Amino acid sequence: MIKKIDTILTKDKMSRDDLIYLLKLTSRDDIQYLYDRAYAVKEQYVGKVAYYRGLIEFSNKCRKNCLYCGIRRDNKRAIRFDMTRDEILQMAYFAYENQYGSVTLQSGERTDEKFIDYVEKLIWEIKRITKGELGITLSLGEQDKNAYQRWFNAGAHRYLLRIETSNPTLYGKLHPQDDNHSWQKRVDCLRELGKIGYQVGTGVMIGSPGQTIEDLADDILFYEKIDADMIGMGPYIVHHDTPLGQTVMQANNYDKHQHMELSLKMIAITRLYLKDVNIAATTALQALNPVGRELGLKAGANILMPVLTVSQHRSKYMLYDNKPCIDDNAAQCRDCLAGRIAGIGETIGYAKWGDAKHYFKKNAAIFKTK
Ligand code: SAH
Ligand code: SF4
Repeated sequence: MIKKIDTILTKDKMSRDDLIYLLKLTSRDDIQYLYDRAYAVKEQYVGKVAYYRGLIEFSNKCRKNCLYCGIRRDNKRAIRFDMTRDEILQMAYFAYENQYGSVTLQSGERTDEKFIDYVEKLIWEIKRITKGELGITLSLGEQDKNAYQRWFNAGAHRYLLRIETSNPTLYGKLHPQDDNHSWQKRVDCLRELGKIGYQVGTGVMIGSPGQTIEDLADDILFYEKIDADMIGMGPYIVHHDTPLGQTVMQANNYDKHQHMELSLKMIAITRLYLKDVNIAATTALQALNPVGRELGLKAGANILMPVLTVSQHRSKYMLYDNKPCIDDNAAQCRDCLAGRIAGIGETIGYAKWGDAKHYFKKNAAIFKTK
């Protein structure tokens, strides 16, 4: 007899109910089968190659107050820092020399002109010292279209902005209720980024309080609707100095194993559903399981973000508790990851940008006419 999971996985297009069914799988064999099928789709569409985006978390100053995040504005216990311009450039050069192919510049959200100008010049400089060869992804939050355009013109070509949840009501519970934290504004930003020509990345926090399995299925449909090229999602993890973290700690109902499994299922089902996008195995996976990132790759992810942030600041860029790798330096992260990838029989896409195939496919008509 054909199993229901097989009937679903052989469909050209899965329905919302199918996504929900897969997310709710409980049998170990079925879940492993789901990962294996996702891995086969990954192999077919994007290959068994892990691409790097060296992560430079250059400042934890933030104008926002997301209720889950350890570097939210009102967390007075967070020690604020800015990496110096030289430190950032050195790290970018380290990525270039070590053939990482790309870096991701990430920070808390700032929208003042001084910051926009600083980042713009930084992008030009990184491009200059790496002979235009290093790809640049940005993850700097919500900005107006002029700032996005200036950074694009300077040479950044990918942008990550998680929607956090596709459910506006849940978004309202994870953020303060004010104009500064608007779900619609985030969607508008994603659309703006796409119009400018960025490869657009989004994603959600998996297992945030109040989130349902139906929400997660809708998140995958949201990725499709927004035509995302890259997906970066990871488990919600408690930060003890945040309003949400404290509520979860009081309720004492955070299940690490469940969060990990749900995160891997989301990676696998997103790969099965969207096929040719880039999907990151995020650091947060490793916070829950020492081999979390390898498991992410085995469930269908194809992007890794080795941390480049200088050692002295790592422990201050604490979005959530138990963030891994905070005692390491960039060279240790490089060697550690290379070993982990070889260990699962994959290769590293050295010196390649590893852009999302989806981006070129959807723009095929434009590229043809150029
Ligand atoms: N300020 C930018 C980029 C830095 S935050 C922005 O918000 O887009 C990057 C991501 O960290 C956020 O999108 C969020 O999904 C994640 N994050 C923050 N706090 C977290 C937590 N407690 N658990 C898991 N992920 C978290
Ligand atoms: Fe700031 Fe991003 Fe954290 Fe929100 S998630 S508080 S925008 S760093």
